[in-house]
Amino acid sequence: MGLTDAPLAVWIIISALLGLVIGSFLNVVIYRWPIGESIVFPGSHCGSCNAKVLPYDNIPVVSYLVLGGKCRSCRAPFSIRYPAVELLTGALFAIAAAIDGPGWKLVFDCLFIAMVIPLVFIDAAVRLLPAVITVPGLGIALLSCFFFPKLVGMSQKMGGGGFVLGLGTSPDWYASLVNAAAGATLGGGLLFVLGIAYEIVRKREGMGLGDVSMMCFVGAYLGWELTLLTILIASVAGSVVGVVAARGRRIDEFQVPFGVFLGVGAVVSMLAGSRMIGWYLGLMQ
Ligand SMILES: [Zn+2]
Repeated sequence: MGLTDAPLAVWIIISALLGLVIGSFLNVVIYRWPIGESIVFPGSHCGSCNAKVLPYDNIPVVSYLVLGGKCRSCRAPFSIRYPAVELLTGALFAIAAAIDGPGWKLVFDCLFIAMVIPLVFIDAAVRLLPAVITVPGLGIALLSCFFFPKLVGMSQKMGGGGFVLGLGTSPDWYASLVNAAAGATLGGGLLFVLGIAYEIVRKREGMGLGDVSMMCFVGAYLGWELTLLTILIASVAGSVVGVVAARGRRIDEFQVPFGVFLGVGAVVSMLAGSRMIGWYLGLMQ
């Protein structure tokens, strides 16, 4: 019996546990990148008293609960963001495992999630989308499309996108790569245009090149159909949250960075987008 013959539940549990551990690493990236600290050295330490976090105090979620969310030596409170990022990563890895089952698609989907989560939290904290994540992300997306065509996106599966791009008879790797390039161009291009339009209407810079490069990365991985869906979800979610949160205040005072909504849209599209579009097209018939 091979490893991939294990029941799906086993894969879901393994993925969830791995997600918790990777989430713990993402916390380091989210905390240290904005202040320019190395991701590797020094080891985890308390932000207040500088005490080293001991290995047994560094267990995802569990340590936070055991210590009541406080540093063992100085009792300074740790942000709820730490267990939240760990739980979120674990949950999304588990959902990806339940949808994908074992295989390369699960590996790359989890990698995609692990790159989008720090983008979302760093954008929320300091309104920046680090190129050190988006540029390698674009590279990984293109590699996955080249070596594992048909992993993501829906062009080949639904026949629609591939046909639109005139790729009906092309080899898989070529169709996959063109679809990735189309997704990157569409995603980056739309955000570029949106950013300029926002600047003209609001007379203020709203979206920057960070959003453009983030959508190049997301677009290359998801293909052009799911890229459109990502931007649609982000725009709707952004508008709803914006209207709710701005009640009683001047609209201008409220601004959640758009990269946060793009990240949510990207992960939802990756996990459920093909089904959502299939369902919608079914309604049209
Ligand atoms: Zn401390």
